[in-house]
Amino acid sequence: MVNANSEVIVIGAGISGLLAARVLANSCETVTIIERDRLSQSGQVRPGVPQGSHIHGLLARGHEAIEDLVPGFAEDLLADGAASVEFLSETRISYQGYTLLQSPADISMAFASRPFIESRIARKVLALPNVRLLDGHTVQALTATPHGDRITGVQLATPDGERVKRPATLVVAALGKAGQALSWLDRLGYPRPKESRMRIDVGYASRHYQLPADVLGKDRFFFDGPHADRPCGLMIGVQENGTWIVTACGYGAHAPHRTGHSFHEVVARLAPAGVAERLAASPALDDIHTFGFPASTRRHYERISRMPEGLIAFGDAVCSYNPIYGIGMTSAALQAKALASTLEAGGRRLPQRFYRRAAPNITLLWTLSSTMDHLISEVPGRRPLHVQLVAPFLKRLLATAEYDPEMARTVARVVTFAAPLPGLLHPRLLVRVLHNRHDARENPVVGVRDD
Ligand SMILES: Cc1cc2nc3c(=O)[nH]c(=O)nc-3n(C[C@H](O)[C@H](O)[C@H](O)COP(=O)(O)OP(=O)(O)OC[C@H]3O[C@@H](n4cnc5c(N)ncnc54)[C@H](O)[C@@H]3O)c2cc1C
Repeated sequence: MVNANSEVIVIGAGISGLLAARVLANSCETVTIIERDRLSQSGQVRPGVPQGSHIHGLLARGHEAIEDLVPGFAEDLLADGAASVEFLSETRISYQGYTLLQSPADISMAFASRPFIESRIARKVLALPNVRLLDGHTVQALTATPHGDRITGVQLATPDGERVKRPATLVVAALGKAGQALSWLDRLGYPRPKESRMRIDVGYASRHYQLPADVLGKDRFFFDGPHADRPCGLMIGVQENGTWIVTACGYGAHAPHRTGHSFHEVVARLAPAGVAERLAASPALDDIHTFGFPASTRRHYERISRMPEGLIAFGDAVCSYNPIYGIGMTSAALQAKALASTLEAGGRRLPQRFYRRAAPNITLLWTLSSTMDHLISEVPGRRPLHVQLVAPFLKRLLATAEYDPEMARTVARVVTFAAPLPGLLHPRLLVRVLHNRHDARENPVVGVRDD
């Protein structure tokens, strides 16, 4: 289906759409990206990606995968002003109420805003000779063969409101988490994929500041995540060109986008000593932006029995995770890698083969984010058995990472996906967890609700 003469359409020029286009450009004659917004050259937040106003950490594994797909990305980011941060030795990270011991973990991360990261990927992808961008154009529907068994292209609205059909041998729908492609499938008479939906009711409130480089002392990133006893958290991170972002987050009634739990209250309560005062005395670069994220959603396209040829859902359209864990861009990059290897392997039924290849990483990311969410009492629903079993162990493990440099380093490498999860289960580390006598606190992790 995809060959050198193929005309491919990618809907959405977010990070997923751009990375999909990058991969497809290797095997297709032309790739046209159709984007509703006008793409910002200067890296401004745009209406189609409102999450761009909020903190976006690009995890080590995602960074590496994007660099593989778009060589030179990492160098461009830093050359253009992103901050290079040593994760753990220059970051203060607390999960579930435990602060990881600051020690070298051999993880360099680039810190920058979501629009800045996107615009650096866009610049490289759109420079490819066979990639075109139609921005300011909105896809309204898919077109298909009379029996609907194959997608033949899209119908779109031009900036002047004219309706135009555009043919394609393959359409990649990287439309974001809302799942607009599902209603297009409905209209063609196809079943929707089954959804795993976890109601989390997370809220964000963020603001950018011009701050001195030493606002956090030697640290460049502060993350005090929500936990069972305190379902709100705070992130303060350096961004491109010396700017900083401050993001308050919380679950349910503690979400700072709701009245009563304002951004300033969370900052005053959780910021390191003296930082709230420095923020109050510093010029803010924008207003406070808020974002509500009601649920994490995974659409199991890999299990669907009947689907048309010529359509692939991609990125957040397949799985969107709790933003607190900073996973979405990494998931997009890993899906792009799965698409590349599916294309390389060749054969029929590209969508099915792609979904099956992408599924294991999505399952891993989904399991990590949903397990952490189950530890928060505000998150409704029954706790699976594995969460009830894992919670006390996780508490001891994180408590060990407060004083044991090897454990802290291993946790840091696992949460940034620089190392695989089984690294945490190495017998040497397990022995240290079991012998940990240092944690005399109340149990902050096992406050799980089983309702
Ligand atoms: C508050 C928040 C914080 C986050 N923080 C992090 C983080 O720290 N780290 C991380 O890795 N991820 C984070 N994420 C997730 C991350 O933003 C996404 O996973 C990632 O950007 C990939 O998104 P995407 O490209 O699939 O979709 P999107 O970024 O939503 O892009 C979809 C694109 O499709 C376009 N579009 C939609 N409909 C049409 C149409 N009909 N026609 C044409 N174009 C259309 C939109 O305009 C948009 O450009 C966060 C998300 C949120 C909500």
